[in-house]
Amino acid sequence: MNCRHCYHPPHERTGGVMPPEILERVIRKASEEYETVWFIWHGGEPLLVPLSFYKDAASLQEKYFGKDSHRVSNTIQTNGTLISKKFMNFCKEKKINVGVSFEGPCNNILREMTGLTEKNIGMMKKGGHKFSVSSAICSHDVKELMNIYDHFMGDGIALSLSHVIRSGSATEDMVPDADEYADMSIKVFDRWLHDVNAEMPLMPHMQYVMNALGEPTPADCAHSSCIFKWMSVYPNGDIYPCAKGCPSGFRLCNIADIERLSDAFMSDSMKDMLSASVERRSKCMSSCSLYKHCNGGCSIDALSEGNISENGGTSCLMFKKIFSHILATINDIIRERRDLSAYNRFVREAVIGKLVNPKIVNI
Ligand code: SF4
Ligand code: SF4
Repeated sequence: MNCRHCYHPPHERTGGVMPPEILERVIRKASEEYETVWFIWHGGEPLLVPLSFYKDAASLQEKYFGKDSHRVSNTIQTNGTLISKKFMNFCKEKKINVGVSFEGPCNNILREMTGLTEKNIGMMKKGGHKFSVSSAICSHDVKELMNIYDHFMGDGIALSLSHVIRSGSATEDMVPDADEYADMSIKVFDRWLHDVNAEMPLMPHMQYVMNALGEPTPADCAHSSCIFKWMSVYPNGDIYPCAKGCPSGFRLCNIADIERLSDAFMSDSMKDMLSASVERRSKCMSSCSLYKHCNGGCSIDALSEGNISENGGTSCLMFKKIFSHILATINDIIRERRDLSAYNRFVREAVIGKLVNPKIVNI
């Protein structure tokens, strides 16, 4: 679909499918070393491979982790054009999360539209399948954030919002203004918060609510510190610290060269990234009251905004504004013992959970 905000420039989109021996090696090594593993299958477009690829992956996971193991979870992040009923039934059977990258009414801004995504979302809705939508917001549609929210929430579809970063194909002018994005994001949060009929969570806002309540979720990688927890394995077995379009100098190693997966974190390129990241976090720790909630943010975002060892970029400014609003809101709800029936069930249940267990309330 030639997405204009792709983390990779066109010359890096060389295609390739992970061969079976590398797939098995990744799954085996992960099972040998980690108690729980989250596999995220994504881009290019993960549904360009036949369903048999994922059936093989599921069999390998069963072989190494055990059948129906709670140690493994899977997410497929797709542009939605090739989703079929057969694929969705397989995902249901194997409890695979499906995320669709789509901006609804603004999809033509970042992607070459085919209409298939919309059609398949209709099919999934009609079939009662579980899925969520991830919308990437750029400077050209940031004003439409509320329309995008209404489009999906009105249909009972879980929505995750993120902003376009200057990386790969995305140019600087596509990055939304930090204040404009944060203000729109706050408006969307407030609408969702007060929508007592909201059927679905809104991300990352719900993660921020949990964070404000003292329980950062590991899925919020940028604010629960990703280092030593995430890696990206390319089809040829090359390992990078993150899937967010790392520059080639960030290549850690090839999976064929290491005994244990965590050996990848011992490479010189990881040490370089780590020391720059520590430098940024040290500045955050001494200057930012939100550090315990933010953890210094995402290193790749900082890199895309100019310097991995500096804070204060677009992502930092957005987080400060959006999170401060959510933190203040949650503080007020608890301090003033507000009537919880005025809020959606996700926030209501999270707040009640913390009130029942006050020792872990962090406010
Ligand atoms: S580098 Fe950023 S996007 Fe990548 S895993 Fe870490 S926090 Fe997440
Ligand atoms: S909000 Fe910005 S300054 Fe504060 S901890 Fe996060 S990255 Fe650092």
